[in-house]
Amino acid sequence: MIDNGTELGSCQLKAVRFHETGGPEKLRYEEAPRPDFKEDEVLVRVRACALNRLDVYARSGSRKLDLPMPHISGSDIAGEVSETGKLVEGHSAGEKVVVAPGLSCGVCEYCTNGWDSLCSSYKIIGYQTQGGYAEYVAVPRENILPIPDKLGFEEAASVPLVFLTAWHMLITRAHLQPGETVLVWAAGSGVGSAAVQVSKLLGAKVITTVGSEEKMAKAKGLGAETVINHHTQDVPEEVKRATNGGKVNVVFDHIGAATWERSMRSMAPGGRLVNCGVTSGGKTELDIRYLFTRQFSLLGSYMGGRGELVNVLKFFEDGRLKPVVDSVFPLQDAGKAQARMEQSSHFGKIVLKV
Ligand SMILES: [Zn+2]
Repeated sequence: MIDNGTELGSCQLKAVRFHETGGPEKLRYEEAPRPDFKEDEVLVRVRACALNRLDVYARSGSRKLDLPMPHISGSDIAGEVSETGKLVEGHSAGEKVVVAPGLSCGVCEYCTNGWDSLCSSYKIIGYQTQGGYAEYVAVPRENILPIPDKLGFEEAASVPLVFLTAWHMLITRAHLQPGETVLVWAAGSGVGSAAVQVSKLLGAKVITTVGSEEKMAKAKGLGAETVINHHTQDVPEEVKRATNGGKVNVVFDHIGAATWERSMRSMAPGGRLVNCGVTSGGKTELDIRYLFTRQFSLLGSYMGGRGELVNVLKFFEDGRLKPVVDSVFPLQDAGKAQARMEQSSHFGKIVLKV
């Protein structure tokens, strides 16, 4: 057993919690009870936890979740094994681990076929349960994965949720092929920065968008052939120009209402639009004539299977995929970190050092 990094008693830890929903000021850095862990669980000493939009949805109350209160957010966790339950074998104290963010039953038809996120009991750690804005978190043994050798804690925490999501969207849902062209909305977002890289890994051509001139070079640096400013340029026109009128085969969307119509106008006949989220709102209009005459496919995607995360992590061993860390804040500045995310001034993942 190891227990470094805290001077508190054995039953207390430091955490950032909110007791009621509201603005970033609701986040309190305070003492909290150390989590109990079951016989088949591992207690992880959190070293880094990356932010996700889910954290803001939960804290603001915008998604009407039935959260355990006071609530600890944080779904992207990297740290060290601290203690293990009696039934846990093959893990020992001090081992560096990253936590797979999905919880599911493991035995239903969806789980056994790798579609964990369709399981009726599926939950995201730190969103629907207590998470990693804390010194310790208890997670099931099967959610513990080794950190790729090349990565530090902050880099490792930047990987799970966004790379799992991008992988599931592009490979499992949209079946992106070598030589195809993909439009990735918002390369500066965590999931956008992952999608550009996964698309390049698959041998696709990437057109992506950013919201400011400063982000243009960073998006190119990830490997995108064409970068469009979605605030100042006409995205469908620029897509047409970049593809000599051919448009894109796949649209990677996580914005929703604000991008829907432009996505439709950017797709080539037979195009597939894959969506994993609606940061701008979830209601839109669909002209069904385009859907059938151009034989579009509209694909929903939500997280992914644990096996897909195991696969995606392999590509960090040889550097073919790289975490994109925007900034690192100390745990107690979680409110400032969330404010940076809400302003969309970041490029890549915002991480809390714990
Ligand atoms: Zn299941």
